[in-house]
Amino acid sequence: MSEEQGFTTRAVHKSRSGEPVVEEPASVPIYQAAPFIFNDMERFAAVGKAKISGGYLYSRWANPTVDALARTIASLEGAEATACFASGMGAIHASVASAVSAGDHVVSARQIYGGTFGLFNDYLPRTGVEVTFVDVTDLDEVAAAFRDKTRVLYFETIGNPSLPVADVDALVAIGHERGATVIVDATFTTPYLFDAVSHGVDLVVHSATKYLGGHSDVTAGVVSGSAEAIATIRHLGIDYGGTLAPLDAWLTIRGVQTLALRMDRICANALTLAGFLEAFPGVERVTYPGLASHPQSSLARKLFERGFGGVLTFEVSGGVAGGRRVLERLRLASPAASLGGTKTLIVHPASITHTQLSREEREAAGITDGLIRVSVGIEDVEDLMADFEQALS
Ligand SMILES: *Cc1c(COP(=O)(O)O)cnc(C)c1O
Repeated sequence: MSEEQGFTTRAVHKSRSGEPVVEEPASVPIYQAAPFIFNDMERFAAVGKAKISGGYLYSRWANPTVDALARTIASLEGAEATACFASGMGAIHASVASAVSAGDHVVSARQIYGGTFGLFNDYLPRTGVEVTFVDVTDLDEVAAAFRDKTRVLYFETIGNPSLPVADVDALVAIGHERGATVIVDATFTTPYLFDAVSHGVDLVVHSATKYLGGHSDVTAGVVSGSAEAIATIRHLGIDYGGTLAPLDAWLTIRGVQTLALRMDRICANALTLAGFLEAFPGVERVTYPGLASHPQSSLARKLFERGFGGVLTFEVSGGVAGGRRVLERLRLASPAASLGGTKTLIVHPASITHTQLSREEREAAGITDGLIRVSVGIEDVEDLMADFEQALS
């Protein structure tokens, strides 16, 4: 291209060097491009046909930065492949949709993320897929809910927000005995605390918005499993369109690099804070899988060798108003409807995250009016304890 070209032609084309950079950048480049330009028409046709492997045609199909994240997560999960989505819900929807058709049935834990409950309770039935919700800690109830057309068993490693620990091995056995795809949302435990694939789970999903991204600055979701299952899910992603953007993939790659360091600190902080709250006068009940008082504490110890995650809940007196008052008085712990970042965040599920549920559905999922959920961050734990002490005193 010569300088005789017009101003705008040069403005549009001059960024292309046509030369690949030989030295590898120390950080993955953000391939912020929708289509890729082909010089060879044979290759254009071949990549267009292959869609998700062997080249890049269009970023909804495949993008090098997003693939770099997928490679990383697949390795951390010990899975053959990973598909990336624009949110955890995108990954959950595509995972379930890949395994069901109209007329099929899903068995799901009742103690799940509010958005997932909404998807299963409101949307799936409209597509002709029935869902039965069960208490994940009652294996007889889980087994009894299966029908001939049950295709999926769905649960969270640590359930949201009442924090039941799923007996993953027993649940996988129940699901596989009946020919179902076992899908686990392992957001709360991350691939660092729990190796879902080695426990036989078919598809493991994460809201990467939480611990994987880890800095409250990205919305993303991932699902890992066999190469065959993930190829189906990626094709669904291409058709549904909820695929991950390159910049968000890059932010998640950046976050994942410190996952182990953050989780070690977060788990230690959470255990200390949970013990502190449990001994605090006026706090009625503290739930954390690392506490001896947790109903599945020995199961948690067996499954999660490195720690019990960063989410704990506690109960204050005074119902909805009492819960709200604590949120108002905390200074360091910030009211925000997410979890898994560096900052300690608190939420009041009854009035904020679980409003999709009726009061009866909330009670059944263990969400009482005075329940407060804490996502413990990486702050110095003495400062966190001081903050809770002043707010609760
Ligand atoms: C946040 C969350 C989701 C949904 O993820 P998004 O990234 O917000 O779509 C799903 N499951 C769990 C356990 C979550 O915490």
